[in-house]
Amino acid sequence: MAANNIVVLGAGVSGLTTAYLLSQDPANKITVLAKHMPGDYDIEYASPWAGANYMPVGKQGSAHHAWERDTWPALKAIAEKYPEAGIHFRGTLIYNRKKDQESATGQWFSELVQPNPWYKDVVPDFKNIPSDQLAPGIDNAQEFTSVCINTPVYLSWLVGQCVKNGAVFKRAVFKHIADAANAHHTGQKADVVINCTGLSSKTLGGVLDGKMYPARGQIVVVRNDPGPMVSASGTDDGEDEALYIMTRAAGGGTILGGSYQKHNWDGTPDMNLANRIMKRAIAIAPSLVKKGQGIEGLDIIRHGVGLRPLREGGPRIEKEKIDGVSVVHNYGHGGFGYQASFGCADTAVSLVKEVLQNKSRAKL
Ligand code: FAD
Repeated sequence: MAANNIVVLGAGVSGLTTAYLLSQDPANKITVLAKHMPGDYDIEYASPWAGANYMPVGKQGSAHHAWERDTWPALKAIAEKYPEAGIHFRGTLIYNRKKDQESATGQWFSELVQPNPWYKDVVPDFKNIPSDQLAPGIDNAQEFTSVCINTPVYLSWLVGQCVKNGAVFKRAVFKHIADAANAHHTGQKADVVINCTGLSSKTLGGVLDGKMYPARGQIVVVRNDPGPMVSASGTDDGEDEALYIMTRAAGGGTILGGSYQKHNWDGTPDMNLANRIMKRAIAIAPSLVKKGQGIEGLDIIRHGVGLRPLREGGPRIEKEKIDGVSVVHNYGHGGFGYQASFGCADTAVSLVKEVLQNKSRAKL
């Protein structure tokens, strides 16, 4: 059986999940090439900054909905079978205020906070919280069981799975997507390059996707553990500020978020915003600190900023020939790269198979 030489460009959650699925077929000889790898923290590398959890935001009936729906079983299976992957189940509370509907954060979360969302049939233990139990100002709320991913542990686990299946990892930086086809570890030209470069697809030669833009997310990572995860539809501190709390598996600390600042590229934490994030978190989850304490009761590990790779019109998962090289794109996953990772990677893998079938036919 002839081998398929495949290059995956990018080692964030999109590239690693795609490589992980492809590496399960021994006919695929995979090289993962990237400027940044798990272990790095950089403003050009979104994946390590994510919480990350599963809070579906895709509109009912959209491709985004299908990608998130199809990702839950995979994350659930990993959480159950591979505790070393850094994914655990966690109770989740979602609070909605109708007044947040028009804000940037409210629009991002509009599906998540609905009383009757599509994902109620996907996640376990979904239930609406009775209105007489809601705090003043909250219009509706729900709880369910979700997962929280310790992203540094999980990304490294994905690398390990790919390496175990024979994939080769190399550091490399490319100015043009087509050049990646010449960097396969066998020395032969790759049959297909999978573009998982996230926000950098805006500037990568051969791609230059003008629809890409960032939504800046600032976080505070603390050692405190408040219990369940919490997300709210918005805040009173600004329409692009957000409020979410999640404790990562395996000692990864608790993420306090955040912000959703579109077109903001600033990689430096804003300490005023950090104070607001911490105050809001304690107000909604007082169990974060000891009784009577304020933000001085938080034990801070680090402040961080990541750029969510948003794309007007949604992620781009499609095939294209660029300078004679077959390319499959899988980028533009905004704030949902983990919770849609397996659904998106599955779609990308189907396109890779189409490219490889055409290659086989051409040889006959
Ligand atoms: P990236 O992680 O940015 O990876 C891009 C890769 O491409 C890197 O390896 C980079 O080095 C490489 N690359 C780029 N250009 C080149 C080049 N020219 N040459 C070589 N290599 C190149 N999602 C969720 O599902 N749940 C959450 O709870 C969640 N929370 C988030 C919180 C924050 C604060 C942020 C910032 C994001 C969050 N996200 C969450 C979104 C998620 O992090 C992103 O959607 C996801 O990480 C995007 O992954 P990616 O692999 O597409 O891109």
